[in-house]
Amino acid sequence: MVVPQLVDTHCHLDLFSNYAEVIRVTESAQIQCIAVTNTPSVFSRMEELVGGCRYVLPALGLHPELASSRAAELPIFLKALSRTRYIGEVGLDYTTTVASERHIQRRVFSEILSACDASGDKILTIHSRRAVDDVLDAIGQSFRGSFILHWYSGSRRSIKRAVERGAYFSVNPAMLRSQNGRRLVAAVPRERILTESDGPFVTVDTGPATPASVDFVVAGLAALWETEKLSAQSQTYDNFLAISATRS
Ligand code: MN
Repeated sequence: MVVPQLVDTHCHLDLFSNYAEVIRVTESAQIQCIAVTNTPSVFSRMEELVGGCRYVLPALGLHPELASSRAAELPIFLKALSRTRYIGEVGLDYTTTVASERHIQRRVFSEILSACDASGDKILTIHSRRAVDDVLDAIGQSFRGSFILHWYSGSRRSIKRAVERGAYFSVNPAMLRSQNGRRLVAAVPRERILTESDGPFVTVDTGPATPASVDFVVAGLAALWETEKLSAQSQTYDNFLAISATRS
């Protein structure tokens, strides 16, 4: 029997102090990994870091918490867009209550979405802290592409709305450690669940979570779903294949 691959749809590989080692281990373990970036100006560096990889995929991003300071990098983002199918980390973060900052975040995110929509087959990994409903409004009903809500922490009502829009949800070790996180994950249909490390920001017992840490997430999902670990791993890998097969 073929063992399904592990999947990490959101990892900041460039922010590990030992990034070369983490990339090498991820690639040799054949973990499907979306290597997100936080600003367009570091994307070409990420391309260099993972250029020889088959399983580690470089993603082009502009993190919402950097939108105000890095909005000037949008042209770099648009110019690099054709070089990858993977987009992230992008989105909205309403931890800030400053109206002008939220406004810039929405403008940047909206431009990114328009460009991705025009391309048609992008896969986005999206940050939506305290802003899920505005994220879903921005994506709209007819977005041509696929999206993953990373580290979802919104309401259960919004999960329903997101699922109707076609959202996938990527689950990390920190989410499964929290009771609220587990409650939210349980409310998402299994065929929409993906796994992520969000390393090095999320930590596990041994230190920063790495792509290999999604193994703990798969075990946690198996417990939550009351199924075998291998079955949970198959489910998340099938989900990754399904989102990868999407062409709109
Ligand atoms: Mn992140």
